[in-house]
Amino acid sequence: MKVNPLRKYLRDWALPHFFCPGCGCGQILNLFLRAADEINLDMDKLVAIGGVGCTARIPVYIKAEALHGVHGRTLAWATGIKLHNPDLNVVIFAGDGDIAAIGGNHLIHAARRNLDVNVIVNNNMNYAMTGGQVAPTTPLYLYTTTTPRGNMERTFDLCKLAETAGATFVSRWTTNHPRQIVKSIKEGMDHRGLTFIEIVSQCPTYFGRYALGSSRAEDTLKWIKERTVTKERAEGMSGEELEGKIVVGDFVRKDLPTLGDKYAELEKKAQGEE
Ligand code: SF4
Repeated sequence: MKVNPLRKYLRDWALPHFFCPGCGCGQILNLFLRAADEINLDMDKLVAIGGVGCTARIPVYIKAEALHGVHGRTLAWATGIKLHNPDLNVVIFAGDGDIAAIGGNHLIHAARRNLDVNVIVNNNMNYAMTGGQVAPTTPLYLYTTTTPRGNMERTFDLCKLAETAGATFVSRWTTNHPRQIVKSIKEGMDHRGLTFIEIVSQCPTYFGRYALGSSRAEDTLKWIKERTVTKERAEGMSGEELEGKIVVGDFVRKDLPTLGDKYAELEKKAQGEE
């Protein structure tokens, strides 16, 4: 039997995975491993972190050091791990609720500090694991289990939030863009500073079923595709035309000192080594 070459990166005891058929989480796990394989990422130096939610289960399946803990606190752990051992590659797999609502404050400060970690956000536009509740990323007027008359709140633009807070590498793609995702992950792993990669994806079980009236993954993927515009095309569009659109592309690439650089510099000074 032909074995998938990425199978060697998965923990035997954790399989089979718990994702629903057609879920974007499986795609993101696959694309991360593909990127890791292509750059020969040292799995002995990888720490994969997840908070709570369907996406937060991704680290459980990867054969590397993994941390699976409380909701929204992934960046607090990542800060401690990275400052203690700067040689480690730290990757956070977070859902939109985990990183932008409960963990929103950690996100803005990690970005402000330019913490050298990689944040891969699976934005499936709802709180999936807990039953399809409305999230800060749920599009306006769509139905969720907690908005039976439609969502009345404006939607957070996660990439703009990360950029404004100071992230030095920001990209957004959708699960309709596997090649671009692999490329961004490869570049992001090489970047020094806070890497923020948002992937808009399908949760057929809750988002699809409640917001779009279909539990078929392909229907949500089609819905996402119809709303997607590239950054270049968006530049020629008005604010009104961009309402409800998913703008994809590479938004930020900056080379700035990281929190770890500053920490090392101050430590040297304190020890009179200047
Ligand atoms: Fe994926 Fe949604 Fe199922 Fe969670 S509930 S595993 S996000 S399809």
